[in-house]
Amino acid sequence: MQLPREVIVGKGTLKSVPEVMRRLNISGSALIIAGEKSYEVAGKTVHALLEPTGITVDTLLIETVSDEALAAIEERIKVTKPAVLFAVGGGTKIDATKLSSACQGIPFISVPTTLSHDGIASPLASVKGLDKPYSVMAQAPLAIIADTDVIAKAPWRSVISGCGDVIAKFTAVKDWQLAHAEKGEYYGEYAASLALMSTKLVIQDAELIQPDNEEGLRILLEALVSCGVAMSIAGSSRPCSGSEHLFSHALDMLECNHAMHGEQCGIGSLLTAYLHNANWQQIRDTLKQVGAPTTACELGVRDEDIVEALKMAATVRPERYTILHKLRLNRTACKKVARATEVIS
Ligand SMILES: [Zn+2]
Repeated sequence: MQLPREVIVGKGTLKSVPEVMRRLNISGSALIIAGEKSYEVAGKTVHALLEPTGITVDTLLIETVSDEALAAIEERIKVTKPAVLFAVGGGTKIDATKLSSACQGIPFISVPTTLSHDGIASPLASVKGLDKPYSVMAQAPLAIIADTDVIAKAPWRSVISGCGDVIAKFTAVKDWQLAHAEKGEYYGEYAASLALMSTKLVIQDAELIQPDNEEGLRILLEALVSCGVAMSIAGSSRPCSGSEHLFSHALDMLECNHAMHGEQCGIGSLLTAYLHNANWQQIRDTLKQVGAPTTACELGVRDEDIVEALKMAATVRPERYTILHKLRLNRTACKKVARATEVIS
């Protein structure tokens, strides 16, 4: 089980970078991986804070998580031999750093600039271009330094996506319990409880998650970090990814839109909570409260795409047993579910 040793969350926490390096006893050199924007927003501050400490700092800017980007990071690691990598950015920069640092056996520190999904603290990386549409095991961050002043500058839509990804754990845990009951799959009560608690807190405090409300951002941040830790404890994405994530992956495979991961998972959770005979209305109400989409139209996809994605979701990952594998819905049944939950008209 790999867990972060330091989690620093709150207003102005970026300035704790030198202190964290001291506490972790890291010296020598550091490599910052960022995008152009995230370097501007936080990367250059990390750079400026590290330099006076005597640490040699190198920076590599990347845009996507392509094979070329991963190769470029690993090449730079081989040349400059850093003691630690800093992943400064949203999902893609953190995923790329996570994967390449794990391959080279070097720890990394996560410095998220957005809250769009739970990858900021998890040991898993999702990389497009691999044959699997889901995540691969890499490594958990050694430390997470999440500054709400930095995150407040990100587009609000990314926060909405993060909320959707946390709310999605409601059905992920239900699917895990189902797989345990019906297939005898290993079920970790502690990891499941941690993921579920994150969902409950975000549902309970949804009204605080609003622009310019630092407390709401911190609640969401802590929820996302807890989800990452739940995956570390479980040793897989099981507590955080069930039928609703399969629905989101299916939508990605249909290439029908450019909605954000958490927005798709939120709607997925609403649909599959209905199938679990659970309180899907509460999921819908919370999504609405934070301003997340709850219909095909708001997500920017056609009604047919929702039906098709729900139908094909179980085939995306046949080995991950969920309510969709149990029910094996045909097109008519999928349509009925989407209509009953008012995702389609
Ligand atoms: Zn997710």
